Amino acid sequence: MRIGLPKEIKVKENRVALTPGGVATLVRRGHTVIVERGAGVGSGITDTEYEGAGATLGTAADAWAAEMVVKVKEPVEAEYGYLRDDLLLFTYLHLAADRPLTEALLSAGTTAIAYETVQLEDGSLPLLMPMSEVAGRLSVQAGAYHLQKPVGGRGVLLGGVPGVQAGHVVIIGGGVVGTNAAKMAMGLGAKVTVLDVSHRRLTYLDDVFFGRLTTMMSSEANIRALLPEADLLIGGVLIPGAKAPHLVTRDMLPLMQEGSVIVDVAVDQGGCVETIHPTTHDDPTYVVDGVIHYGVANMPGAVPRTSTFALTNQTLPYALLLADQGMEALQRNQALRRGLNTYRGQITYGGVADAFELPV
Ligand code: NAD
Repeated sequence: MRIGLPKEIKVKENRVALTPGGVATLVRRGHTVIVERGAGVGSGITDTEYEGAGATLGTAADAWAAEMVVKVKEPVEAEYGYLRDDLLLFTYLHLAADRPLTEALLSAGTTAIAYETVQLEDGSLPLLMPMSEVAGRLSVQAGAYHLQKPVGGRGVLLGGVPGVQAGHVVIIGGGVVGTNAAKMAMGLGAKVTVLDVSHRRLTYLDDVFFGRLTTMMSSEANIRALLPEADLLIGGVLIPGAKAPHLVTRDMLPLMQEGSVIVDVAVDQGGCVETIHPTTHDDPTYVVDGVIHYGVANMPGAVPRTSTFALTNQTLPYALLLADQGMEALQRNQALRRGLNTYRGQITYGGVADAFELPV
Protein backbone atom coordinates (compact mmCIF):
# COMPACT_ATOMS: atom_id res chain seq x y z
CA MET A 1 0.00 0.00 0.00
CA ARG A 2 1.09 3.62 -0.50
CA ILE A 3 1.06 5.42 2.85
CA GLY A 4 1.31 9.19 3.19
CA LEU A 5 2.75 11.08 6.16
CA PRO A 6 1.91 14.80 5.89
CA LYS A 7 3.38 17.44 8.18
CA GLU A 8 0.88 18.58 10.81
CA ILE A 9 -0.26 22.12 10.06
CA LYS A 10 -2.62 22.72 13.00
CA VAL A 11 -1.30 25.66 15.05
CA LYS A 12 1.40 24.57 17.55
CA GLU A 13 1.15 20.87 16.65
CA ASN A 14 4.67 19.45 16.61
CA ARG A 15 3.98 15.74 16.74
CA VAL A 16 4.22 13.48 13.69
CA ALA A 17 2.33 10.24 13.04
CA LEU A 18 5.20 7.89 12.14
CA THR A 19 8.77 7.67 13.41
CA PRO A 20 11.64 6.52 11.17
CA GLY A 21 11.38 3.14 12.94
CA GLY A 22 7.70 2.95 11.97
CA VAL A 23 8.52 3.85 8.37
CA ALA A 24 11.20 1.15 8.26
CA THR A 25 8.72 -1.46 9.55
CA LEU A 26 6.18 -0.53 6.87
CA VAL A 27 8.79 -0.47 4.11
CA ARG A 28 10.14 -3.88 5.17
CA ARG A 29 6.61 -5.24 4.72
CA GLY A 30 6.64 -4.06 1.11
CA HIS A 31 4.75 -0.79 1.55
CA THR A 32 5.72 2.61 0.14
CA VAL A 33 5.80 5.56 2.56
CA ILE A 34 5.71 9.12 1.25
CA VAL A 35 6.83 11.63 3.88
CA GLU A 36 6.24 15.35 3.43
CA ARG A 37 9.54 17.21 3.70
CA GLY A 38 9.95 18.64 7.23
CA ALA A 39 7.17 16.44 8.69
CA GLY A 40 9.31 15.41 11.67
CA VAL A 41 11.04 18.70 12.43
CA GLY A 42 8.82 19.58 15.41
CA SER A 43 9.67 16.26 17.02
CA GLY A 44 13.38 16.51 16.27
CA ILE A 45 13.27 13.99 13.39
CA THR A 46 15.10 14.93 10.20
CA ASP A 47 14.21 14.19 6.56
CA THR A 48 17.50 12.32 6.32
CA GLU A 49 16.38 9.95 9.08
CA TYR A 50 13.15 9.23 7.20
CA GLU A 51 15.04 8.71 3.95
CA GLY A 52 17.42 6.37 5.77
CA ALA A 53 14.38 4.38 6.88
CA GLY A 54 13.27 3.95 3.28
CA ALA A 55 10.73 6.77 2.90
CA THR A 56 10.25 8.79 -0.27
CA LEU A 57 10.24 12.53 0.46
CA GLY A 58 7.68 14.75 -1.23
CA THR A 59 5.23 17.61 -0.90
CA ALA A 60 2.04 17.73 1.15
CA ALA A 61 0.10 16.90 -2.02
CA ASP A 62 2.34 13.87 -2.65
CA ALA A 63 1.75 12.56 0.87
CA TRP A 64 -2.01 13.16 0.69
CA ALA A 65 -2.21 11.37 -2.70
CA ALA A 66 -1.42 8.05 -0.97
CA GLU A 67 -4.07 5.34 -0.42
CA MET A 68 -3.79 5.70 3.36
CA VAL A 69 -2.83 8.89 5.19
CA VAL A 70 -1.67 8.66 8.79
CA LYS A 71 -1.76 11.84 10.86
CA VAL A 72 -1.89 13.06 14.44
CA LYS A 73 -4.55 15.79 14.43
CA GLU A 74 -7.76 16.07 12.50
CA PRO A 75 -7.50 17.69 9.04
CA VAL A 76 -7.87 21.48 9.29
CA GLU A 77 -9.84 23.43 6.69
CA ALA A 78 -6.80 23.97 4.45
CA GLU A 79 -6.55 20.17 4.17
CA TYR A 80 -10.19 19.44 3.32
CA GLY A 81 -9.33 19.68 -0.40
CA TYR A 82 -7.18 16.55 -0.07
CA LEU A 83 -10.09 14.38 1.10
CA ARG A 84 -11.35 11.88 -1.52
CA ASP A 85 -13.50 8.79 -1.71
CA ASP A 86 -10.63 6.35 -2.18
CA LEU A 87 -8.70 7.72 0.80
CA LEU A 88 -8.30 5.88 4.11
CA LEU A 89 -7.54 8.38 6.88
CA PHE A 90 -6.14 7.23 10.24
CA THR A 91 -5.76 9.97 12.87
CA TYR A 92 -7.31 11.67 15.94
CA LEU A 93 -10.61 13.13 14.68
CA HIS A 94 -12.93 14.14 17.59
CA LEU A 95 -15.75 14.49 15.06
CA ALA A 96 -18.58 14.92 17.59
CA ALA A 97 -17.15 18.36 18.31
CA ASP A 98 -16.43 19.25 14.67
CA ARG A 99 -19.39 19.53 12.30
CA PRO A 100 -17.46 21.16 9.38
CA LEU A 101 -14.93 18.31 9.28
CA THR A 102 -17.65 15.67 9.61
CA GLU A 103 -19.46 17.21 6.64
CA ALA A 104 -16.21 17.45 4.63
CA LEU A 105 -15.45 13.76 5.25
CA LEU A 106 -18.99 12.71 4.36
CA SER A 107 -19.22 14.75 1.19
CA ALA A 108 -15.79 13.52 0.04
CA GLY A 109 -16.76 9.92 0.88
CA THR A 110 -13.52 9.41 2.84
CA THR A 111 -13.06 6.35 5.05
CA ALA A 112 -11.92 7.75 8.39
CA ILE A 113 -10.74 5.81 11.43
CA ALA A 114 -10.40 7.86 14.61
CA TYR A 115 -7.64 7.00 17.08
CA GLU A 116 -9.80 8.06 20.00
CA THR A 117 -12.57 5.56 19.29
CA VAL A 118 -10.39 2.50 18.67
CA GLN A 119 -11.53 0.45 21.65
CA LEU A 120 -10.52 -2.90 23.11
CA GLU A 121 -12.96 -5.51 24.45
CA ASP A 122 -12.48 -4.29 28.05
CA GLY A 123 -13.61 -0.80 27.03
CA SER A 124 -10.12 0.73 27.21
CA LEU A 125 -8.93 3.19 24.57
CA PRO A 126 -5.39 2.15 23.62
CA LEU A 127 -4.68 5.15 21.38
CA LEU A 128 -5.71 7.71 24.02
CA MET A 129 -3.77 6.03 26.80
CA PRO A 130 -0.27 7.17 25.78
CA MET A 131 -1.34 10.81 25.88
CA SER A 132 -2.85 10.32 29.35
CA GLU A 133 0.44 8.80 30.46
CA VAL A 134 2.31 11.84 29.15
CA ALA A 135 -0.16 14.34 30.66
CA GLY A 136 -0.18 12.55 34.03
CA ARG A 137 3.58 12.65 34.32
CA LEU A 138 3.79 16.21 33.03
CA SER A 139 1.16 17.40 35.52
CA VAL A 140 3.60 16.94 38.41
CA GLN A 141 6.42 18.65 36.52
CA ALA A 142 4.13 21.61 35.74
CA GLY A 143 2.81 21.71 39.31
CA ALA A 144 6.28 21.53 40.86
CA TYR A 145 7.41 24.44 38.69
CA HIS A 146 4.43 26.64 39.52
CA LEU A 147 4.88 26.02 43.26
CA GLN A 148 8.09 28.07 43.04
CA LYS A 149 7.97 31.56 44.53
CA PRO A 150 9.32 33.50 41.51
CA VAL A 151 6.36 32.30 39.45
CA GLY A 152 3.83 33.04 42.21
CA GLY A 153 3.75 29.71 44.05
CA ARG A 154 3.94 28.91 47.77
CA GLY A 155 7.66 28.33 47.54
CA VAL A 156 7.43 24.62 48.36
CA LEU A 157 9.92 22.03 47.11
CA LEU A 158 7.80 18.92 46.55
CA GLY A 159 10.45 16.50 47.77
CA GLY A 160 11.34 18.59 50.82
CA VAL A 161 14.89 18.08 52.16
CA PRO A 162 16.17 16.09 55.14
CA GLY A 163 14.55 17.56 58.26
CA VAL A 164 11.82 19.37 56.31
CA GLN A 165 8.40 18.01 55.36
CA ALA A 166 7.81 17.03 51.75
CA GLY A 167 5.03 18.73 49.78
CA HIS A 168 1.65 17.01 49.59
CA VAL A 169 0.27 16.06 46.17
CA VAL A 170 -3.44 15.22 46.16
CA ILE A 171 -4.65 13.44 43.03
CA ILE A 172 -8.36 13.11 42.25
CA GLY A 173 -8.88 10.19 39.87
CA GLY A 174 -6.58 7.18 40.01
CA GLY A 175 -6.80 6.10 36.34
CA VAL A 176 -4.05 6.47 33.75
CA VAL A 177 -3.43 10.18 34.41
CA GLY A 178 -3.65 9.75 38.18
CA THR A 179 -1.37 6.72 38.36
CA ASN A 180 1.27 8.38 36.22
CA ALA A 181 1.04 11.56 38.27
CA ALA A 182 1.41 9.50 41.45
CA LYS A 183 4.53 7.78 40.13
CA MET A 184 6.17 11.11 39.28
CA ALA A 185 5.20 12.71 42.58
CA MET A 186 6.52 9.73 44.56
CA GLY A 187 9.66 9.83 42.46
CA LEU A 188 10.21 13.42 43.56
CA GLY A 189 9.77 12.38 47.18
CA ALA A 190 6.41 14.09 47.72
CA LYS A 191 3.67 12.84 50.02
CA VAL A 192 0.92 11.49 47.76
CA THR A 193 -2.80 10.87 48.29
CA VAL A 194 -4.99 9.46 45.51
CA LEU A 195 -8.80 9.61 45.58
CA ASP A 196 -11.07 7.55 43.35
CA VAL A 197 -14.64 6.25 43.42
CA SER A 198 -13.53 2.88 42.10
CA HIS A 199 -12.62 0.57 44.95
CA ARG A 200 -10.96 -1.69 42.38
CA ARG A 201 -8.66 1.17 41.32
CA LEU A 202 -7.83 2.07 44.92
CA THR A 203 -7.10 -1.59 45.70
CA TYR A 204 -4.77 -1.78 42.71
CA LEU A 205 -2.90 1.37 43.76
CA ASP A 206 -2.67 0.11 47.34
CA ASP A 207 -1.36 -3.26 46.16
CA VAL A 208 1.26 -1.73 43.91
CA PHE A 209 2.36 1.24 46.03
CA PHE A 210 1.52 0.10 49.59
CA GLY A 211 3.13 2.38 52.13
CA ARG A 212 4.30 4.89 49.53
CA LEU A 213 0.96 6.57 48.91
CA THR A 214 -2.38 6.90 50.65
CA THR A 215 -5.61 5.94 48.91
CA MET A 216 -8.95 7.48 49.84
CA MET A 217 -12.49 7.06 48.57
CA SER A 218 -13.44 10.14 46.58
CA SER A 219 -16.17 11.97 48.48
CA GLU A 220 -16.89 15.61 49.17
CA ALA A 221 -15.96 15.17 52.82
CA ASN A 222 -12.59 13.59 52.02
CA ILE A 223 -11.79 16.23 49.39
CA ARG A 224 -12.69 19.05 51.81
CA ALA A 225 -10.47 17.49 54.47
CA LEU A 226 -7.49 17.26 52.10
CA LEU A 227 -7.66 20.70 50.45
CA PRO A 228 -6.05 22.67 53.34
CA GLU A 229 -2.95 20.48 53.23
CA ALA A 230 -2.61 20.06 49.47
CA ASP A 231 0.33 21.90 47.95
CA LEU A 232 -0.49 20.49 44.54
CA LEU A 233 -3.93 19.24 43.51
CA ILE A 234 -4.15 17.20 40.30
CA GLY A 235 -7.45 16.48 38.55
CA GLY A 236 -7.52 13.22 36.56
CA VAL A 237 -11.17 12.23 36.67
CA LEU A 238 -12.97 10.73 33.69
CA ILE A 239 -16.53 9.59 33.28
CA PRO A 240 -16.52 8.19 29.72
CA GLY A 241 -18.77 10.09 27.35
CA ALA A 242 -19.72 12.72 29.94
CA LYS A 243 -18.46 16.04 31.25
CA ALA A 244 -16.23 15.75 34.31
CA PRO A 245 -18.10 16.33 37.61
CA HIS A 246 -17.12 19.45 39.57
CA LEU A 247 -15.61 17.84 42.65
CA VAL A 248 -13.81 20.97 43.86
CA THR A 249 -16.42 23.69 43.80
CA ARG A 250 -15.88 27.44 43.94
CA ASP A 251 -16.85 27.62 47.62
CA MET A 252 -14.18 25.01 48.51
CA LEU A 253 -11.32 27.02 47.01
CA PRO A 254 -10.68 29.19 50.13
CA LEU A 255 -9.86 25.94 51.95
CA MET A 256 -6.64 25.79 49.92
CA GLN A 257 -3.53 27.67 50.94
CA GLU A 258 -2.43 30.77 49.08
CA GLY A 259 0.10 29.91 46.37
CA SER A 260 -0.93 26.28 46.17
CA VAL A 261 -1.40 24.89 42.66
CA ILE A 262 -4.20 23.10 40.80
CA VAL A 263 -3.36 21.21 37.60
CA ASP A 264 -6.68 19.99 36.24
CA VAL A 265 -5.74 17.55 33.50
CA ALA A 266 -9.44 16.76 32.98
CA VAL A 267 -9.94 20.31 31.69
CA ASP A 268 -10.54 18.86 28.21
CA GLN A 269 -13.76 17.33 29.58
CA GLY A 270 -14.74 20.51 31.43
CA GLY A 271 -12.48 19.87 34.44
CA CYS A 272 -13.17 18.46 37.90
CA VAL A 273 -12.45 21.84 39.48
CA GLU A 274 -15.28 24.33 38.99
CA THR A 275 -12.94 27.31 38.56
CA ILE A 276 -10.75 25.74 35.87
CA HIS A 277 -10.89 26.88 32.27
CA PRO A 278 -8.75 25.88 29.28
CA THR A 279 -5.42 27.69 28.93
CA THR A 280 -2.51 27.43 26.49
CA HIS A 281 1.19 26.62 26.77
CA ASP A 282 1.94 30.31 26.07
CA ASP A 283 -0.12 31.47 29.06
CA PRO A 284 -0.79 28.33 31.11
CA THR A 285 -1.94 29.68 34.47
CA TYR A 286 -4.23 32.18 36.22
CA VAL A 287 -5.08 32.79 39.87
CA VAL A 288 -8.42 32.46 41.65
CA ASP A 289 -8.64 33.13 45.41
CA GLY A 290 -4.85 32.98 45.62
CA VAL A 291 -4.71 29.48 44.10
CA ILE A 292 -2.75 29.00 40.86
CA HIS A 293 -4.81 27.24 38.19
CA TYR A 294 -3.12 25.36 35.31
CA GLY A 295 -5.59 24.31 32.61
CA VAL A 296 -3.61 23.46 29.48
CA ALA A 297 -5.91 21.31 27.36
CA ASN A 298 -3.17 19.75 25.17
CA MET A 299 -0.45 19.07 27.71
CA PRO A 300 1.41 16.48 25.55
CA GLY A 301 2.07 19.32 23.08
CA ALA A 302 4.77 20.57 25.46
CA VAL A 303 6.84 17.44 24.90
CA PRO A 304 6.23 16.57 21.23
CA ARG A 305 9.21 14.30 20.88
CA THR A 306 8.22 12.02 23.76
CA SER A 307 4.57 12.26 22.71
CA THR A 308 5.36 11.29 19.10
CA PHE A 309 7.20 8.16 20.17
CA ALA A 310 4.56 7.30 22.82
CA LEU A 311 1.71 7.71 20.33
CA THR A 312 3.34 5.87 17.44
CA ASN A 313 4.28 2.92 19.68
CA GLN A 314 0.54 2.35 19.99
CA THR A 315 -0.70 3.38 16.54
CA LEU A 316 1.85 1.50 14.42
CA PRO A 317 0.43 -2.02 14.97
CA TYR A 318 -2.98 -0.77 13.76
CA ALA A 319 -1.43 1.15 10.83
CA LEU A 320 0.37 -2.06 9.87
CA LEU A 321 -2.87 -4.06 9.94
CA LEU A 322 -4.54 -1.48 7.71
CA ALA A 323 -1.57 -1.38 5.33
CA ASP A 324 -1.35 -5.18 5.09
CA GLN A 325 -5.05 -6.00 4.92
CA GLY A 326 -6.80 -2.80 3.80
CA MET A 327 -10.48 -2.62 4.79
CA GLU A 328 -10.46 -6.32 5.64
CA ALA A 329 -8.53 -5.39 8.77
CA LEU A 330 -11.76 -3.90 10.12
CA GLN A 331 -13.55 -7.22 9.79
CA ARG A 332 -10.76 -9.10 11.49
CA ASN A 333 -10.05 -6.61 14.26
CA GLN A 334 -12.99 -5.39 16.32
CA ALA A 335 -10.97 -2.69 18.12
CA LEU A 336 -10.16 -1.13 14.77
CA ARG A 337 -13.76 -1.59 13.59
CA ARG A 338 -14.92 0.50 16.55
CA GLY A 339 -12.56 3.20 15.33
CA LEU A 340 -14.40 3.60 12.02
CA ASN A 341 -16.19 6.96 12.07
CA THR A 342 -17.09 7.58 8.42
CA TYR A 343 -17.37 5.25 5.41
CA ARG A 344 -18.59 6.05 1.89
CA GLY A 345 -20.49 9.16 2.94
CA GLN A 346 -22.08 7.57 6.03
CA ILE A 347 -21.40 8.10 9.72
CA THR A 348 -20.45 4.74 11.21
CA TYR A 349 -19.91 5.71 14.86
CA GLY A 350 -22.87 6.14 17.21
CA GLY A 351 -21.47 8.99 19.28
CA VAL A 352 -20.84 11.13 16.20
CA ALA A 353 -24.25 10.38 14.66
CA ASP A 354 -25.91 11.27 18.00
CA ALA A 355 -24.01 14.57 18.17
CA PHE A 356 -25.46 15.66 14.83
CA GLU A 357 -28.75 13.79 15.06
CA LEU A 358 -27.90 11.86 11.90
CA PRO A 359 -28.44 8.16 11.15
CA VAL A 360 -25.57 5.69 11.64
P1 NAD B 1 -9.13 6.99 33.16
O1 NAD B 1 -10.45 6.47 32.72
O2 NAD B 1 -7.94 6.11 33.05
O3 NAD B 1 -9.22 7.43 34.70
C1 NAD B 1 -10.27 8.20 35.21
C2 NAD B 1 -10.47 7.81 36.66
O4 NAD B 1 -11.41 8.73 37.22
C3 NAD B 1 -11.04 6.40 36.86
O5 NAD B 1 -10.18 5.63 37.69
C4 NAD B 1 -12.39 6.66 37.53
O6 NAD B 1 -12.76 5.66 38.46
C5 NAD B 1 -12.11 8.00 38.20
N1 NAD B 1 -13.29 8.73 38.64
C6 NAD B 1 -14.50 8.82 38.08
N2 NAD B 1 -15.32 9.60 38.84
C7 NAD B 1 -14.58 10.00 39.91
C8 NAD B 1 -14.85 10.80 41.06
N3 NAD B 1 -16.04 11.33 41.27
N4 NAD B 1 -13.84 11.00 41.96
C9 NAD B 1 -12.62 10.46 41.76
N5 NAD B 1 -12.32 9.68 40.70
C10 NAD B 1 -13.28 9.45 39.79
O7 NAD B 1 -8.92 8.37 32.39
P2 NAD B 1 -7.52 9.08 32.09
O8 NAD B 1 -6.96 8.50 30.83
O9 NAD B 1 -6.70 9.06 33.31
O10 NAD B 1 -7.99 10.57 31.74
C11 NAD B 1 -8.38 11.50 32.76
C12 NAD B 1 -8.72 12.82 32.09
O11 NAD B 1 -7.55 13.44 31.57
C13 NAD B 1 -9.67 12.71 30.90
O12 NAD B 1 -10.61 13.76 30.97
C14 NAD B 1 -8.77 12.90 29.71
O13 NAD B 1 -9.47 13.38 28.58
C15 NAD B 1 -7.84 13.92 30.27
N6 NAD B 1 -6.61 14.14 29.51
C16 NAD B 1 -6.22 15.44 29.35
C17 NAD B 1 -5.03 15.74 28.71
C18 NAD B 1 -4.59 17.18 28.62
O14 NAD B 1 -3.68 17.46 27.86
N7 NAD B 1 -5.16 18.08 29.40
C19 NAD B 1 -4.25 14.72 28.14
C20 NAD B 1 -4.67 13.40 28.30
C21 NAD B 1 -5.86 13.11 29.00
